[in-house]
Amino acid sequence: RAKSLGKSRVEVYNEFLLASVTTRMHLENDLRRALQGQEFLLHYQPIVALPTAEIVGFEALVRWQVPGGPLIFPGDFITVAEETGLIVPLGLWVMREACLTSLIWNQRFGQERKLGMSVNISPRQFAQHDLVPEIQRILIETGVDPATIKLEITESGTMGDPARAVHILSQLKLFGVQLSVDDFGTGYSSLSYLHRFPIDILKIDRSFVSGMVEDTDSRQVVKTVMALATGMGMQVVAEGIECQEQALQLTQMGCDFGQGYLFSKPLPEAEVVAMLSSRTATTMDCLEGQAA
Ligand code: C2E
Ligand code: MG
Ligand code: MG
Ligand code: MG
Repeated sequence: RAKSLGKSRVEVYNEFLLASVTTRMHLENDLRRALQGQEFLLHYQPIVALPTAEIVGFEALVRWQVPGGPLIFPGDFITVAEETGLIVPLGLWVMREACLTSLIWNQRFGQERKLGMSVNISPRQFAQHDLVPEIQRILIETGVDPATIKLEITESGTMGDPARAVHILSQLKLFGVQLSVDDFGTGYSSLSYLHRFPIDILKIDRSFVSGMVEDTDSRQVVKTVMALATGMGMQVVAEGIECQEQALQLTQMGCDFGQGYLFSKPLPEAEVVAMLSSRTATTMDCLEGQAA
């Protein structure tokens, strides 16, 4: 990641230096300015059906384009945005932008099959008392089909107060959106609550997927999550699929959806539109031959 940083003030934003108080202060100010100056943008990573690799939707992932400077990835600013509370207005901007994109892409490309749009909701956002009305407002104002929207929450965002989480999630479900648990398996989940959450999708964390070919324990975790999801009537998306062997094993375990560099990195909007416009490319060609 450091490689992508050019020569500018943001050069110093790496995880090591973020420990420094002054760097954090600069970063906080820069983030505030960036929000006002519309320096954020979204990239979109395809989510595909396994094993055909047909695109079923996208995950919206935020990036920070410093004018005349480098493109900065969330790993270098989300933590500070979270700690300063800036993630709240930023998250609402992401939600609105993703809804507008979903509306437009589905009008153009969603005839045969609706395209999904996954949006990350941070723990800090989830803790806001007005999350539900803010989400509702964006859904209404953008006119997006709520059925295309999947809100990604994390275990840490919900497990602190599971009773409240059940209440909030149930309200969100009434709007017609779908709910995913992101990075599943990395946090602390109380299984007794998980089945009370109106969750539609579990996203198996990349750490298990990347280990599953060599490591029996990772493979066992993936199998267990698959069984859990199936038992609770949830779908599974495997994150971070980077090689054919992982895709093959996941397919054999009955995993229906995947996301990862094997299929595509997160792409700028224009590249997705170009891809969706060329008829043949709605199925990522990396798995050709395996689909049969
Ligand atoms: P996430 O939600 O789990 O998103 C998946 C991350 O894994 C993305 O990183 C994506 O580029 C990366 N990824 C996807 N496939 C592969 C793969 O095959 N190999 C590897 N090594 N990585 C892969 P990204 O875009 O840097 O985002 C990192 C994290 O930042 C996200 O993890 C999410 O937690 C957070 N984030 C990103 N955008 C937003 C946002 O709009 N709001 C909030 N609250 N958090 C966000
Ligand atoms: Mg996510
Ligand atoms: Mg994830
Ligand atoms: Mg992850």
